Amino acid sequence: MAEACLPDPSETPGRFFLPGPTEVSRSVLEAQARPMMDHRGKHLKALVRELQEGLQAALLTERPVFIGTSSGTGFMEAGVRNAASQRVLSLTNGAFSERFAAIARACGLTVDTLSVEWGEGHDPEMVRRRLGEQSYEAVTVCHSETSTGVLNPVADIARVIREHENTLVLVDSVSGAGGAELRTDEWGLDWLLTGSQKAFALPPGLAFGVASERMLARSETVGAKGVYFDLVEYQKQIELFQTPTTPALTLLYSLHAQLETMREEGIQARWARHLEMAVRCWDWVARMREQGGVALEVLAPEGFRSPTVTCISLPEDVEGTRIVGAMKDRGYVIGAGYGKLKDTTIRIGHMGEHTMQELDTLLDVLEAVLGGP
Ligand SMILES: *Cc1c(COP(=O)(O)O)cnc(C)c1O
Repeated sequence: MAEACLPDPSETPGRFFLPGPTEVSRSVLEAQARPMMDHRGKHLKALVRELQEGLQAALLTERPVFIGTSSGTGFMEAGVRNAASQRVLSLTNGAFSERFAAIARACGLTVDTLSVEWGEGHDPEMVRRRLGEQSYEAVTVCHSETSTGVLNPVADIARVIREHENTLVLVDSVSGAGGAELRTDEWGLDWLLTGSQKAFALPPGLAFGVASERMLARSETVGAKGVYFDLVEYQKQIELFQTPTTPALTLLYSLHAQLETMREEGIQARWARHLEMAVRCWDWVARMREQGGVALEVLAPEGFRSPTVTCISLPEDVEGTRIVGAMKDRGYVIGAGYGKLKDTTIRIGHMGEHTMQELDTLLDVLEAVLGGP
Protein backbone atom coordinates (compact mmCIF):
# COMPACT_ATOMS: atom_id res chain seq x y z
CA MET A 1 0.00 0.00 0.00
CA ALA A 2 1.20 3.49 -0.79
CA GLU A 3 2.32 5.16 2.39
CA ALA A 4 3.37 8.52 1.02
CA CYS A 5 0.38 10.14 2.66
CA LEU A 6 1.46 9.03 6.13
CA PRO A 7 4.02 10.75 8.36
CA ASP A 8 7.35 8.99 8.66
CA PRO A 9 7.66 7.44 12.14
CA SER A 10 11.35 8.31 12.19
CA GLU A 11 10.65 12.03 11.66
CA THR A 12 12.93 14.19 13.82
CA PRO A 13 11.04 15.34 16.90
CA GLY A 14 11.05 18.95 18.06
CA ARG A 15 10.07 20.52 14.75
CA PHE A 16 6.30 20.48 14.75
CA PHE A 17 5.01 23.81 16.08
CA LEU A 18 1.47 23.88 14.76
CA PRO A 19 -0.89 25.45 17.30
CA GLY A 20 -2.81 22.20 17.36
CA PRO A 21 -2.47 19.41 16.83
CA THR A 22 0.85 19.76 18.58
CA GLU A 23 3.71 17.31 18.68
CA VAL A 24 3.05 14.08 20.58
CA SER A 25 5.97 12.26 22.18
CA ARG A 26 6.99 8.85 20.94
CA SER A 27 6.22 7.23 24.30
CA VAL A 28 2.69 8.65 24.35
CA LEU A 29 2.08 7.46 20.79
CA GLU A 30 3.35 4.01 21.70
CA ALA A 31 1.21 3.87 24.82
CA GLN A 32 -1.77 3.47 22.48
CA ALA A 33 -0.55 0.14 21.18
CA ARG A 34 -2.35 -2.05 23.71
CA PRO A 35 -5.21 -4.49 23.30
CA MET A 36 -8.85 -3.53 23.72
CA MET A 37 -10.62 -4.04 27.03
CA ASP A 38 -14.21 -4.46 28.13
CA HIS A 39 -15.38 -0.87 28.45
CA ARG A 40 -17.78 -1.80 31.28
CA GLY A 41 -15.29 -3.97 33.12
CA LYS A 42 -13.30 -3.36 36.27
CA HIS A 43 -10.05 -2.54 34.48
CA LEU A 44 -11.67 0.33 32.64
CA LYS A 45 -13.04 1.66 35.92
CA ALA A 46 -9.61 1.48 37.51
CA LEU A 47 -8.16 3.28 34.51
CA VAL A 48 -10.78 6.03 34.56
CA ARG A 49 -10.25 6.46 38.29
CA GLU A 50 -6.56 7.14 37.69
CA LEU A 51 -7.32 9.43 34.78
CA GLN A 52 -9.62 11.41 37.05
CA GLU A 53 -6.81 12.13 39.48
CA GLY A 54 -4.50 13.34 36.74
CA LEU A 55 -7.13 15.44 35.00
CA GLN A 56 -8.31 17.05 38.23
CA ALA A 57 -4.71 18.01 39.05
CA ALA A 58 -4.24 19.48 35.57
CA LEU A 59 -7.48 21.48 35.61
CA LEU A 60 -7.37 22.41 39.31
CA THR A 61 -10.75 21.03 40.14
CA GLU A 62 -12.20 18.67 42.70
CA ARG A 63 -15.17 17.97 40.49
CA PRO A 64 -15.23 14.99 38.14
CA VAL A 65 -13.72 15.58 34.72
CA PHE A 66 -15.87 14.30 31.88
CA ILE A 67 -13.99 12.50 29.13
CA GLY A 68 -15.67 12.70 25.75
CA THR A 69 -14.91 11.16 22.40
CA SER A 70 -14.92 14.21 20.18
CA SER A 71 -12.65 17.10 19.45
CA GLY A 72 -12.99 20.23 21.56
CA THR A 73 -15.81 21.54 19.40
CA GLY A 74 -18.04 18.70 20.62
CA PHE A 75 -17.76 19.92 24.18
CA MET A 76 -18.37 23.51 23.07
CA GLU A 77 -21.68 22.26 21.72
CA ALA A 78 -22.26 20.25 24.90
CA GLY A 79 -21.80 23.41 26.94
CA VAL A 80 -24.27 25.42 24.94
CA ARG A 81 -26.91 22.70 24.75
CA ASN A 82 -26.86 21.92 28.47
CA ALA A 83 -26.68 25.53 29.66
CA ALA A 84 -29.34 27.36 27.72
CA SER A 85 -32.61 27.11 25.88
CA GLN A 86 -33.23 30.78 25.07
CA ARG A 87 -30.55 33.41 25.10
CA VAL A 88 -26.79 33.58 25.53
CA LEU A 89 -24.10 36.21 25.26
CA SER A 90 -20.97 35.31 23.31
CA LEU A 91 -17.76 37.26 23.83
CA THR A 92 -16.00 37.19 20.49
CA ASN A 93 -12.52 38.28 19.47
CA GLY A 94 -11.34 35.65 16.99
CA ALA A 95 -12.28 32.55 15.05
CA PHE A 96 -12.87 30.14 17.92
CA SER A 97 -14.91 32.51 20.06
CA GLU A 98 -16.97 33.20 16.93
CA ARG A 99 -17.37 29.45 16.50
CA PHE A 100 -18.82 29.28 20.04
CA ALA A 101 -21.40 31.89 19.01
CA ALA A 102 -22.13 30.06 15.76
CA ILE A 103 -22.72 26.80 17.62
CA ALA A 104 -25.17 28.49 19.97
CA ARG A 105 -27.01 29.98 17.00
CA ALA A 106 -27.08 26.61 15.24
CA CYS A 107 -28.59 25.11 18.39
CA GLY A 108 -31.50 27.50 18.00
CA LEU A 109 -30.56 30.02 20.69
CA THR A 110 -30.80 33.77 20.47
CA VAL A 111 -27.18 34.88 20.52
CA ASP A 112 -26.02 38.36 21.34
CA THR A 113 -22.36 39.06 20.81
CA LEU A 114 -20.01 41.38 22.59
CA SER A 115 -17.21 41.76 20.09
CA VAL A 116 -13.79 43.31 20.12
CA GLU A 117 -11.34 43.29 17.22
CA TRP A 118 -9.43 40.11 16.34
CA GLY A 119 -6.18 40.54 18.25
CA GLU A 120 -7.75 42.26 21.25
CA GLY A 121 -8.90 40.90 24.57
CA HIS A 122 -12.12 41.41 26.48
CA ASP A 123 -12.58 43.96 29.24
CA PRO A 124 -14.53 42.64 32.26
CA GLU A 125 -16.07 46.10 32.76
CA MET A 126 -17.65 45.95 29.30
CA VAL A 127 -19.04 42.53 30.15
CA ARG A 128 -20.43 43.89 33.42
CA ARG A 129 -22.18 46.73 31.58
CA ARG A 130 -23.72 44.39 29.02
CA LEU A 131 -24.98 42.04 31.70
CA GLY A 132 -26.58 45.01 33.41
CA GLU A 133 -28.62 45.73 30.29
CA GLN A 134 -29.87 42.26 29.44
CA SER A 135 -30.07 38.95 31.27
CA TYR A 136 -28.60 35.78 29.81
CA GLU A 137 -28.69 32.10 30.70
CA ALA A 138 -25.01 31.80 29.88
CA VAL A 139 -21.98 33.65 28.56
CA THR A 140 -19.48 31.95 26.25
CA VAL A 141 -15.85 33.01 26.32
CA CYS A 142 -12.63 31.71 24.83
CA HIS A 143 -9.64 31.60 27.19
CA SER A 144 -6.74 31.35 24.73
CA GLU A 145 -7.91 32.51 21.27
CA THR A 146 -5.77 30.29 19.07
CA SER A 147 -6.50 32.32 15.93
CA THR A 148 -4.94 35.49 17.37
CA GLY A 149 -2.81 34.42 20.34
CA VAL A 150 -4.95 36.48 22.70
CA LEU A 151 -5.49 35.38 26.29
CA ASN A 152 -8.72 36.70 27.77
CA PRO A 153 -8.77 37.55 31.50
CA VAL A 154 -11.11 34.68 32.26
CA ALA A 155 -10.80 34.86 36.06
CA ASP A 156 -12.00 38.49 36.07
CA ILE A 157 -14.64 37.91 33.43
CA ALA A 158 -16.01 34.92 35.35
CA ARG A 159 -16.19 36.98 38.54
CA VAL A 160 -18.31 39.60 36.77
CA ILE A 161 -20.62 37.00 35.24
CA ARG A 162 -21.05 35.31 38.61
CA GLU A 163 -22.57 38.50 40.01
CA HIS A 164 -25.63 37.19 38.18
CA GLU A 165 -27.07 34.20 39.93
CA ASN A 166 -28.62 32.59 36.86
CA THR A 167 -25.93 33.26 34.29
CA LEU A 168 -23.51 30.42 33.64
CA VAL A 169 -19.87 30.87 32.64
CA LEU A 170 -18.91 28.67 29.67
CA VAL A 171 -15.19 28.65 28.94
CA ASP A 172 -13.35 27.23 25.94
CA SER A 173 -9.80 26.60 27.11
CA VAL A 174 -8.85 24.22 24.32
CA SER A 175 -5.46 25.84 23.74
CA GLY A 176 -5.14 27.13 27.31
CA ALA A 177 -5.62 24.14 29.62
CA GLY A 178 -2.39 22.33 30.36
CA GLY A 179 -0.26 25.33 29.31
CA ALA A 180 -1.82 28.54 30.59
CA GLU A 181 -2.79 29.25 34.19
CA LEU A 182 -6.27 27.87 34.68
CA ARG A 183 -8.05 27.40 38.02
CA THR A 184 -11.39 25.83 37.25
CA ASP A 185 -12.88 25.77 40.78
CA GLU A 186 -11.29 28.93 42.16
CA TRP A 187 -12.41 30.96 39.14
CA GLY A 188 -15.96 29.62 39.42
CA LEU A 189 -16.27 28.26 35.90
CA ASP A 190 -19.57 26.48 35.20
CA TRP A 191 -18.39 24.66 32.11
CA LEU A 192 -14.73 24.35 31.38
CA LEU A 193 -13.87 22.47 28.23
CA THR A 194 -10.67 21.55 26.52
CA GLY A 195 -9.36 19.13 23.92
CA SER A 196 -6.53 16.63 23.83
CA GLN A 197 -4.39 17.90 20.96
CA LYS A 198 -3.21 21.28 22.17
CA ALA A 199 -1.25 21.93 25.38
CA PHE A 200 -2.06 18.43 26.66
CA ALA A 201 0.14 17.16 23.81
CA LEU A 202 -2.03 14.17 23.01
CA PRO A 203 -3.41 12.94 19.72
CA PRO A 204 -6.70 14.63 18.71
CA GLY A 205 -9.97 12.91 19.55
CA LEU A 206 -10.68 13.49 23.23
CA ALA A 207 -12.49 16.34 24.94
CA PHE A 208 -12.37 17.06 28.67
CA GLY A 209 -15.02 19.03 30.52
CA VAL A 210 -15.86 20.12 34.06
CA ALA A 211 -19.44 21.02 34.97
CA SER A 212 -20.37 22.96 38.12
CA GLU A 213 -23.38 22.11 40.28
CA ARG A 214 -25.19 25.06 38.71
CA MET A 215 -24.45 23.71 35.25
CA LEU A 216 -25.80 20.26 36.07
CA ALA A 217 -28.90 21.76 37.67
CA ARG A 218 -29.50 23.78 34.50
CA SER A 219 -28.96 20.71 32.36
CA GLU A 220 -31.74 18.94 34.30
CA THR A 221 -34.26 21.55 33.22
CA VAL A 222 -33.08 22.61 29.79
CA GLY A 223 -35.14 21.47 26.80
CA ALA A 224 -33.89 19.39 23.89
CA LYS A 225 -30.22 18.73 24.57
CA GLY A 226 -29.91 15.55 22.57
CA VAL A 227 -28.32 12.32 23.76
CA TYR A 228 -24.63 12.27 22.93
CA PHE A 229 -23.71 15.35 24.93
CA ASP A 230 -26.16 15.07 27.81
CA LEU A 231 -24.05 16.16 30.77
CA VAL A 232 -26.40 14.70 33.36
CA GLU A 233 -25.65 11.31 31.82
CA TYR A 234 -21.91 12.09 31.83
CA GLN A 235 -22.18 12.91 35.54
CA LYS A 236 -24.02 9.65 36.32
CA GLN A 237 -21.46 7.59 34.44
CA ILE A 238 -18.34 9.29 35.79
CA GLU A 239 -19.56 8.61 39.31
CA LEU A 240 -19.20 4.93 38.32
CA PHE A 241 -15.85 5.69 36.62
CA GLN A 242 -17.40 5.06 33.25
CA THR A 243 -18.25 7.03 30.13
CA PRO A 244 -21.77 7.23 28.64
CA THR A 245 -20.73 5.55 25.37
CA THR A 246 -17.79 3.42 24.26
CA PRO A 247 -14.69 5.44 25.07
CA ALA A 248 -11.79 5.87 22.61
CA LEU A 249 -9.79 3.25 24.48
CA THR A 250 -6.42 3.71 22.81
CA LEU A 251 -6.61 7.44 23.40
CA LEU A 252 -7.29 6.75 27.07
CA TYR A 253 -4.10 4.70 27.15
CA SER A 254 -2.15 7.61 25.72
CA LEU A 255 -3.85 9.99 28.15
CA HIS A 256 -2.77 7.76 31.02
CA ALA A 257 0.85 8.01 29.90
CA GLN A 258 0.73 11.75 29.29
CA LEU A 259 -0.92 12.55 32.62
CA GLU A 260 1.97 10.80 34.33
CA THR A 261 4.41 13.06 32.46
CA MET A 262 2.34 16.09 33.44
CA ARG A 263 2.19 14.98 37.07
CA GLU A 264 5.97 14.61 37.19
CA GLU A 265 6.44 18.12 35.83
CA GLY A 266 3.73 19.65 38.03
CA ILE A 267 1.02 21.86 36.57
CA GLN A 268 2.47 25.11 37.90
CA ALA A 269 5.90 24.30 36.48
CA ARG A 270 4.17 23.48 33.21
CA TRP A 271 2.49 26.90 33.15
CA ALA A 272 5.86 28.51 33.91
CA ARG A 273 7.59 26.63 31.08
CA HIS A 274 4.93 27.72 28.61
CA LEU A 275 5.16 31.33 29.72
CA GLU A 276 8.95 31.25 29.36
CA MET A 277 8.65 29.93 25.81
CA ALA A 278 6.08 32.62 25.00
CA VAL A 279 8.27 35.40 26.42
CA ARG A 280 11.20 34.09 24.38
CA CYS A 281 9.04 34.31 21.28
CA TRP A 282 7.84 37.87 22.06
CA ASP A 283 11.42 39.00 22.78
CA TRP A 284 12.57 37.50 19.50
CA VAL A 285 9.86 39.42 17.62
CA ALA A 286 11.00 42.67 19.28
CA ARG A 287 14.63 41.95 18.43
CA MET A 288 13.78 41.18 14.80
CA ARG A 289 11.95 44.50 14.58
CA GLU A 290 14.42 46.67 16.45
CA GLN A 291 17.72 45.14 15.35
CA GLY A 292 16.94 42.86 12.43
CA GLY A 293 15.04 45.42 10.36
CA VAL A 294 12.09 43.05 9.88
CA ALA A 295 8.83 44.74 10.90
CA LEU A 296 7.29 41.93 12.96
CA GLU A 297 4.75 42.52 15.73
CA VAL A 298 3.07 40.23 18.22
CA LEU A 299 -0.60 40.69 17.30
CA ALA A 300 -1.88 40.56 20.89
CA PRO A 301 -1.15 43.56 23.09
CA GLU A 302 0.94 43.12 26.22
CA GLY A 303 -1.10 41.79 29.10
CA PHE A 304 -3.34 39.83 26.71
CA ARG A 305 -0.87 37.35 25.30
CA SER A 306 -1.37 33.61 25.40
CA PRO A 307 1.50 31.55 26.81
CA THR A 308 0.75 28.71 24.38
CA VAL A 309 0.46 30.35 20.97
CA THR A 310 1.94 33.49 19.45
CA CYS A 311 0.41 35.12 16.40
CA ILE A 312 2.93 37.33 14.61
CA SER A 313 1.97 40.11 12.19
CA LEU A 314 4.22 40.25 9.14
CA PRO A 315 5.55 43.20 7.17
CA GLU A 316 3.23 44.20 4.32
CA ASP A 317 5.40 42.72 1.56
CA VAL A 318 5.80 39.34 3.25
CA GLU A 319 3.15 36.70 2.65
CA GLY A 320 2.42 34.33 5.53
CA THR A 321 1.81 31.26 3.43
CA ARG A 322 5.20 31.70 1.73
CA ILE A 323 6.94 31.77 5.12
CA VAL A 324 5.08 28.67 6.27
CA GLY A 325 6.13 26.94 3.03
CA ALA A 326 9.77 27.98 3.39
CA MET A 327 9.80 26.62 6.94
CA LYS A 328 8.27 23.36 5.70
CA ASP A 329 11.06 23.06 3.13
CA ARG A 330 13.53 23.22 6.03
CA GLY A 331 11.67 20.53 7.95
CA TYR A 332 9.76 22.78 10.37
CA VAL A 333 6.01 23.16 10.74
CA ILE A 334 4.45 26.39 11.98
CA GLY A 335 0.89 27.60 11.65
CA ALA A 336 -0.40 29.87 8.91
CA GLY A 337 -2.61 32.74 9.92
CA TYR A 338 -6.20 31.72 10.66
CA GLY A 339 -9.14 32.79 8.53
CA LYS A 340 -8.96 36.46 7.65
CA LEU A 341 -5.42 36.66 9.09
CA LYS A 342 -4.14 33.96 6.72
CA ASP A 343 -1.83 36.12 4.63
CA THR A 344 -0.83 38.74 7.16
CA THR A 345 0.22 36.59 10.12
CA ILE A 346 1.94 33.36 11.10
CA ARG A 347 1.40 31.42 14.32
CA ILE A 348 3.80 29.48 16.50
CA GLY A 349 2.31 26.90 18.83
CA HIS A 350 4.85 26.71 21.68
CA MET A 351 2.80 24.25 23.66
CA GLY A 352 2.77 20.72 24.97
CA GLU A 353 6.14 19.09 25.49
CA HIS A 354 8.20 21.58 23.49
CA THR A 355 11.40 22.80 25.15
CA MET A 356 13.13 26.15 25.10
CA GLN A 357 15.96 24.62 23.15
CA GLU A 358 13.61 23.40 20.43
CA LEU A 359 11.95 26.82 20.30
CA ASP A 360 15.33 28.57 20.00
CA THR A 361 16.24 26.36 17.08
CA LEU A 362 12.91 27.05 15.42
CA LEU A 363 13.36 30.80 15.85
CA ASP A 364 16.85 30.61 14.34
CA VAL A 365 15.46 28.90 11.26
CA LEU A 366 12.59 31.38 11.06
CA GLU A 367 15.05 34.24 11.35
CA ALA A 368 17.02 32.86 8.42
CA VAL A 369 13.82 32.51 6.38
CA LEU A 370 12.60 36.03 7.16
CA GLY A 371 15.96 37.69 6.84
CA GLY A 372 16.99 35.73 3.75
CA PRO A 373 17.13 37.20 0.25
C1 LIG B 1 -8.49 23.85 18.58
C2 LIG B 1 -9.51 24.71 19.25
C3 LIG B 1 -10.85 24.35 19.36
C4 LIG B 1 -11.43 23.05 18.93
O1 LIG B 1 -11.13 22.67 17.68
P1 LIG B 1 -11.35 21.14 17.30
O2 LIG B 1 -11.03 21.15 15.84
O3 LIG B 1 -12.72 20.80 17.63
O4 LIG B 1 -10.35 20.40 18.10
C5 LIG B 1 -11.71 25.19 20.03
N1 LIG B 1 -11.29 26.32 20.56
C6 LIG B 1 -10.01 26.70 20.51
C7 LIG B 1 -9.60 27.96 21.17
C8 LIG B 1 -9.08 25.91 19.86
O5 LIG B 1 -7.79 26.28 19.82
